[in-house]
Amino acid sequence: MRPIPTRARALTAAAAVSIVAGAGAVAVAGSASAAAGCRVDYAVNQWSSGFTANVTVTNLGDPISGGWNLKWAYAGNQTVTQGWSATVTQSGQNVTATNPSWAASIPTNGTANFGFNANYSGTNTTPASFSLNGTVCTGNVPTSPSSSPSSSPSSSPSSSPSSSPSTSPSTSQSPQQPGTKVDNPYAGAKGYVNPEWKAKAESVSGGSRVSNNPTAVWIDRIAAIEGTEDSSSNGAMGVRDHLDAALAQGAGYIQFVIYNLPGRDCAALASNGELGPNDLPRYKAEYIDPIAAIQGEAKYAGLRIINIVEIDSLPNLVTNTSGQAGGTAMCDTMKANGGYVQGIGYALQKLGALGNVYNYVDAAHHGWIGWDSNFGPTADIMLQAAQASGNVKNVHGFITNTANYSALREPFVQPTTTVGGQNVRQSKWVDWNQYTDELTFAQAFRTKLVSIGFDSGLGMLIDTSRNGWGGSQRPTAASTSTDVNTYVNQSRIDRRIHAGNWCNQAGAGLGERPTAAPAAGIDAYVWVKPPGESDGSSTLIPNDEGKGFDRMCDPTYTGNARNGNSLTGALSGAPISGAWFPAQFAELMANAYPAL
Ligand code: BGC
Repeated sequence: MRPIPTRARALTAAAAVSIVAGAGAVAVAGSASAAAGCRVDYAVNQWSSGFTANVTVTNLGDPISGGWNLKWAYAGNQTVTQGWSATVTQSGQNVTATNPSWAASIPTNGTANFGFNANYSGTNTTPASFSLNGTVCTGNVPTSPSSSPSSSPSSSPSSSPSSSPSTSPSTSQSPQQPGTKVDNPYAGAKGYVNPEWKAKAESVSGGSRVSNNPTAVWIDRIAAIEGTEDSSSNGAMGVRDHLDAALAQGAGYIQFVIYNLPGRDCAALASNGELGPNDLPRYKAEYIDPIAAIQGEAKYAGLRIINIVEIDSLPNLVTNTSGQAGGTAMCDTMKANGGYVQGIGYALQKLGALGNVYNYVDAAHHGWIGWDSNFGPTADIMLQAAQASGNVKNVHGFITNTANYSALREPFVQPTTTVGGQNVRQSKWVDWNQYTDELTFAQAFRTKLVSIGFDSGLGMLIDTSRNGWGGSQRPTAASTSTDVNTYVNQSRIDRRIHAGNWCNQAGAGLGERPTAAPAAGIDAYVWVKPPGESDGSSTLIPNDEGKGFDRMCDPTYTGNARNGNSLTGALSGAPISGAWFPAQFAELMANAYPAL
């Protein structure tokens, strides 16, 4: 795993901070005799001049099948700039959100979810009232519809039970039809708890406080498909064993990490894998094909199987090829031979073809691709890999911050913050990055991906397993310093020495517990890196897994251009990547935020 930042510049300011939730209610429309009722949940992440809204409409009345629109009016000057999972238009203060063609229906008790970005100045007041298909929502179904002038009974223009196979950024019915992809596979579903990780977590004092959280199962070598007992993250359970255990747990979803590309981890040494740079045929035949065969077995059709696809690989092709500060010969090779793009394309195609399987591609983190010079090119190479799969819809979404430590939110250090006449982007820590935290970055990257051709229903995940930064070192207020560097260093939640540090970070804590649909455009906060599993050994440890010794995991190393020639901030005494590191797990619990 390696995030390797490179700098660049540009401007802009996006930020997210406070969460305001307002609720209105709506009523359903439909034919005259239909029982109507609905609720609207309207939540925003806002900053001084703009906000992102996440709107969920719950249909409490009879099913809606012929399309819907939700209308509201703003009291202020809020101006919608872009919507997703609905067409959002505005005329003066009046806003209308109309269903996308692939999500014209809302079943009884089903929901439609959409979001949008907007600008404003002054006060961003939550709209007082919403109406769905012309009827004001009250949060319940009126008992006597009394009047209802007869409109024509039928109505229901046949719009569209979606033509696209993958589904609907919007409807979340509870019982899942096997083979039917839902918009957000995390919504309303219980996550699979990996018993092997749970046992390790419970071997550390206090571990049972968190051991029931779902974590991802890393398929980090061919042997892991069947299961292998060794010194790293894998235990005896193979893919089928985990799927069976998920069924036995009554889980709704299970998460795997697909992580075995040829020439893996080309810019670092700690997680180099077993396949050489020209092993694409083996990757396809011996790794992806068997995984797809197992995930496609009929008995698992009712499970939502989530695959996190190939951490760090595509971003490495953008920032770590020749001519760049982090350039390596292996990244050059993997770019030139197409092994990453073709390998990921193949994985997306084989796994995406399964009706209950959801692919989320890794998109690094803000401290890696947040600069403009990396942001667009990374989105472009994502599109290239998705197109190599034959259909961009094979990508259900993206994940950021996998196995990294970037803070979810930086309430005191936003790209718009100025100190003593200087913008925080000029500080050594931010270094002209366009983003300072993961939530803002993930939402913006989602917008970018949709704008270049990805499905508008795309959902993001953020790995919050180790980005909590709680404990006594966590700032509780903005610094009063007027020196921009002092201000940023005293105010930032992320306590790393440098944002390019990525290995076993001292002082880190568990972050947000896994949560579905926590913010606009975000399908879930997830724990993909199982907390307590090492990022890499702090000294050379011989092993037969292809894993090298990366000095970014050595606490005595004074760094290189990729981390501003800083100390690494890594814990000492660490085993090889993936192996259990109880001292780190204890520290992650002690510094959890929210606290345990
Ligand atoms: C390692 C994998 C391991 C994963 C999860 C990666 O850094 O290379 O072997 O499965 O972390 O801990």
